Amino acid sequence: MSFELPNLPFTSNALEPHISANTLSFHHGKHHNTYVTNLNNLVGDPGNNLEEIIRESAGDPGKVGVFNNAAQVWNHTFFWNSMKPGGGGAPSGDIASGIDAAFGSFDKFKEKFKNAAVTQFGSGWAWLVADSGALKIVKTANADTPIAHGQIPLITCDVWEHAYYLDFQNRRPDYVQAFLDHLVNWDFAASNLG
Ligand code: MN
Repeated sequence: MSFELPNLPFTSNALEPHISANTLSFHHGKHHNTYVTNLNNLVGDPGNNLEEIIRESAGDPGKVGVFNNAAQVWNHTFFWNSMKPGGGGAPSGDIASGIDAAFGSFDKFKEKFKNAAVTQFGSGWAWLVADSGALKIVKTANADTPIAHGQIPLITCDVWEHAYYLDFQNRRPDYVQAFLDHLVNWDFAASNLG
């Protein structure tokens, strides 16, 4: 059984004006779909699930292509779920108290998350993760993903140029600010914290 491109969890214009339907048509319909196609071409009938493929190919010089495509399939699905129409703003509950404990305040968290996303040189991802019980902000390069490093991702922001160039051109900081202020899905983060 091959992997399939999952549907977006919202309609293609639901994140406007922050992320356009045009961006999503390329980002989901072309980029994400290409990772799915490439992965299927590489692994055929895999016999194990996506997360297992990511973990067992991570760091294997003979499986760079498998890792890159499998991780990009997983990361993108996670990214779509990290956003919702009318999202953004401050979380509540365990995520809020975890953020206060780890970063001092929600404003400090936003500052550090934005800094991680903006300073990821070239392509990659910014993440809020749970690591040994504490919340942390991490950035990963290219396809790399916290699930290859024993961390539990809570939310992510894709900072590859294809995520924002049509809407924001070179203004990555404005894109990340829009993600934090209008898009981030704290319900999803809470569900990942368990
Ligand atoms: Mn992407």
